Amino acid sequence: MRRRKISAARVKKHRAYTVEELAETTGAVEATVRTWVKRGLPALTAQRPMLILGRDVLAFMNAETNRRRRPIQLGEFFCFRCKESRKPALGIADYVPLSRSHGRLVALCDTCERECSRMVSIRNLPNWHAFCEIGGSYEGND
Ligand SMILES: [Zn+2]
Repeated sequence: MRRRKISAARVKKHRAYTVEELAETTGAVEATVRTWVKRGLPALTAQRPMLILGRDVLAFMNAETNRRRRPIQLGEFFCFRCKESRKPALGIADYVPLSRSHGRLVALCDTCERECSRMVSIRNLPNWHAFCEIGGSYEGND
């Protein structure tokens, strides 16, 4: 895989970008931006051209960075039955608040369907939207 210098440094949180604009802003090619959308970067697809919100890009790219660094990646759970990090079954997790600042994300292992969970800070929850739909008592994005 060819490595390009891709950076979210110039992405503005409160701007919306077309695929072309986002490619130019991040240094990625348009095909890469489309791949991000397929992998879960939220996009407003009801309109043409589709728009991508800056804050979603920042959360998504932050998640991608974490994914490369951490043994258990963002969007994954450690399954005690499989003894492996696994993705949530059907891409769904429930948020169970434990305090105002953090809680537990609970999902079923996509391989053995055993319940897995991990602690998350509520500030990190928006990053999880790139990987799974979050239900339960969690409301809103902010
Ligand atoms: Zn499992």
